[in-house]
Amino acid sequence: MKLYNTLTKQIEDFIPNEKTKVKMYTCGPTVYNYAHIGNLRTYIFEDVLEKALIYLGYDVKRVMNITDVGHMESDADDGEDKMLKGAKREGKSVLEIAAFYTKSFFQDLEKLNINKPQIVEKASDHIDKYIEMIKKLENDGYAYISNGNVYFDATKALNYYQLSGMNEKDLIIGAREDVCEDENKRNPFDFGLWFTNSKFNNQILQWDSPWGRGYPGWHIECSGIALKYLGNKIDIHCGGVDNIFPHHTNEIAQSEAYTGEKWCNYWLHGEHLNISNGKMSKSKGKFLTLEVLEKDGIRPLAYRFFVLQSHYRNQLVFSDESVKIANIAYTKLKKKINSLTIDKDDILQEDLINKYRKDFIDSISNDLNTANTITLIFDLLKDKLLNNRSKLFLIEDFEKVLSLNLIEVYNIDCDNDFIATVEQKIEERMVAKRNHNYELADKIRDELKAMRVILNDSKGITTWKRED
Ligand SMILES: [Zn+2]
Repeated sequence: MKLYNTLTKQIEDFIPNEKTKVKMYTCGPTVYNYAHIGNLRTYIFEDVLEKALIYLGYDVKRVMNITDVGHMESDADDGEDKMLKGAKREGKSVLEIAAFYTKSFFQDLEKLNINKPQIVEKASDHIDKYIEMIKKLENDGYAYISNGNVYFDATKALNYYQLSGMNEKDLIIGAREDVCEDENKRNPFDFGLWFTNSKFNNQILQWDSPWGRGYPGWHIECSGIALKYLGNKIDIHCGGVDNIFPHHTNEIAQSEAYTGEKWCNYWLHGEHLNISNGKMSKSKGKFLTLEVLEKDGIRPLAYRFFVLQSHYRNQLVFSDESVKIANIAYTKLKKKINSLTIDKDDILQEDLINKYRKDFIDSISNDLNTANTITLIFDLLKDKLLNNRSKLFLIEDFEKVLSLNLIEVYNIDCDNDFIATVEQKIEERMVAKRNHNYELADKIRDELKAMRVILNDSKGITTWKRED
């Protein structure tokens, strides 16, 4: 498996610390608002990465955090806490806001067929770990107290500029001003580990600490949770490109200062989703959610298809037209696949299957070339030498990584009209459920049952098969 490593700025062979075991950490959402489809693009990339590793035989242990405390609007100490901002906006408590948007986040993941990581931890549940780490960093001379707050001294970190690939001067110019401004800091890139004396005084969630009652800085939570659940060494750390600096840079600085050894070998970053007039951003107040796409008739998995058609390290430009085109292409592809009927005499054509599987493995092993894997599906569908049973076998195999629900049914003895009727009814039932019209939804289910069609609702997706 070859992966592009932001740390070394090159494509490298992936070699985990322990032969076939992969320890993977992925930064989670700050749950003060809905995830926008640009955020979701990053989670799709991470999902494909995890599934590709599993497909290739690795045993993956993946951890993700939920940021429910301490994430300021800016990296300085004078921004408002994002969680509190959300709470104020909606007249709810911080905890209610966190619970609501966490639930909504996982619903989005389900609709996009993104696996929930094995371990998901709330930042506010691990305050003890951060305190233990900060104490050690302070004792070892990496952290200092200034005006009641504890800061990490970035000048003490080895290789502080390696991940971003920029020098101090360029970073100061490139970084948002708010990263540098905080008069309590000794150096521009020092960052807060613990705040007791915030300029922003109405922080609701606070805890006792050796430095007084307060709350942790944002960066420490990912290091703390990763070290706690994955040990001192991890193989892969992911996030969006906007995390490279300061978040991931600071995670490396404090984790390696704490353990005294190299922490993570491979850093992978997903590129932005751009809209025609720039980057999608919550702070600018205008952003698209999955729900908005659904209301426009775009299926969530068509959005996944749209995302997988481009490489995760390329910027992707989103427009109403481009996603509509993807939606049509996706629907057509599904129809095509679900119209394939298997002849009872069809055998699995091993040689051809192996050739296609090799191409598939080559593509995903080449820094996750998902666009190629989709081309491969179109190619195999056109292949006259390949019988339908082998085609469906291959697509089902590739789906372990792509997760596009391309196959809804193996059609033995089903004609196209029958399939169209069933799909129409499933669609109607979905709309009924969305409108909380459960009576109608149940009625449609019964009608389908009478047609000997069995429905299976799983993870927000309905699949069906014919009763034997
Ligand atoms: Zn993080």
